Amino acid sequence: MHVGKVLSFFALTWTGAALILHLTRRACWRGGGRIPGNMGFEYIQEIPQPRTILEGMPLSLDLSVVKRKRDQEIRSVFTHQSGKLVLIIGPCSAHDEDAVCDYISRLAKVQEDVKDKVLLIPRIYTNKPRTTGIGYKGMAHQPNLAEEPNIVEGIRAIRRMHIRALKESFLPAADEMLYPGNYPYLEDLLSYVAVGARSVENQAHRLTCSGLDIPVGMKNPTSGDVEVTLNSIQASQAPHVFSYNRWEVKTPGNPLTHAVLRGAVDYHGLAVPNYHYEDLVQFAEAYQKRGLANPTMIVDTNHANSNKKYAEQPRIAMEVMQSRKHSLLLREMIRGFMIESFIEEGSQKVDGGVYGKSITDPCLGWKESEKLIRDLAAMV
Ligand code: PEP
Ligand code: MN
Repeated sequence: MHVGKVLSFFALTWTGAALILHLTRRACWRGGGRIPGNMGFEYIQEIPQPRTILEGMPLSLDLSVVKRKRDQEIRSVFTHQSGKLVLIIGPCSAHDEDAVCDYISRLAKVQEDVKDKVLLIPRIYTNKPRTTGIGYKGMAHQPNLAEEPNIVEGIRAIRRMHIRALKESFLPAADEMLYPGNYPYLEDLLSYVAVGARSVENQAHRLTCSGLDIPVGMKNPTSGDVEVTLNSIQASQAPHVFSYNRWEVKTPGNPLTHAVLRGAVDYHGLAVPNYHYEDLVQFAEAYQKRGLANPTMIVDTNHANSNKKYAEQPRIAMEVMQSRKHSLLLREMIRGFMIESFIEEGSQKVDGGVYGKSITDPCLGWKESEKLIRDLAAMV
């Protein structure tokens, strides 16, 4: 056969095959399913845009006023105009709406008693990063523990829980930014956002936080690297143009981004705390040298600081308060704590079924938590 004919035969065959593939992909895309040639992705369901979710589950005007007023109070701690301590306190993960709202209503009662000394920001953590990627990934991922993951229902469930908690306590909450694109689903509700130790080196997280107007706590990475933590704060405090949720966006930089010290893990996997006096001073001096806005440190009393020995949290907080007394620099820069606390102490398996008990990291129980809040207030 003539060489030209052979080539045009193959060209036609390939064009036909490519056309069939293209049409099949488009058909699959519309209805979800597995797209041929597109790795292993199965398109399960389309996630509604934030506007659709917010219109269907709006925050009432009076609650949005409560939230904005609280933002001002919290902001004044991070700008050092107020000498109050901020406590970001609550369970490691919020898996049960009733227990979470019960816990936060207890916080609200204590808040009233300590309001001149301490501002409580409940942890309602709905997205959980996992060390190996395996395990419970939070309510946003799996709203019903007895069922398979369902992201669309998860987004509705976390919004419902955050609205109810605010309505019953008047305390706007903190959540972790695990998936930066999910922030708009809760942006009218959150008064504090943390970027986790495993996400803090990620450019998408840093740039997204540059557009928030609430305090963002950058955890030190699991390595404990001081410079990485400070780089992250610097990136978030700067203005950026970047790609976000299919838009080209421009952000002004967030001067309320600060550091959260959560301890580190060494080369052999052992916990290395960073809440002792020398660690805090070293971090504070490096932080100061950078010339960043509102240099503020929050100490996470659990995770690699307690080596997840949750009952050590009050002792750790007390040691840090003592360190503040020894150093003007630390008193100026350390403005609060992150505490893992729930109704029942400790933790249980995902299917443990005990009301008010963590299914991720072990937490301080209610009695000890209330005592800790009151003890801290007495030291301010
Ligand atoms: C947490 O706050 O529960 C958490 C996962 O923290 P980190 O990112 O510091 O491990
Ligand atoms: Mn935790």
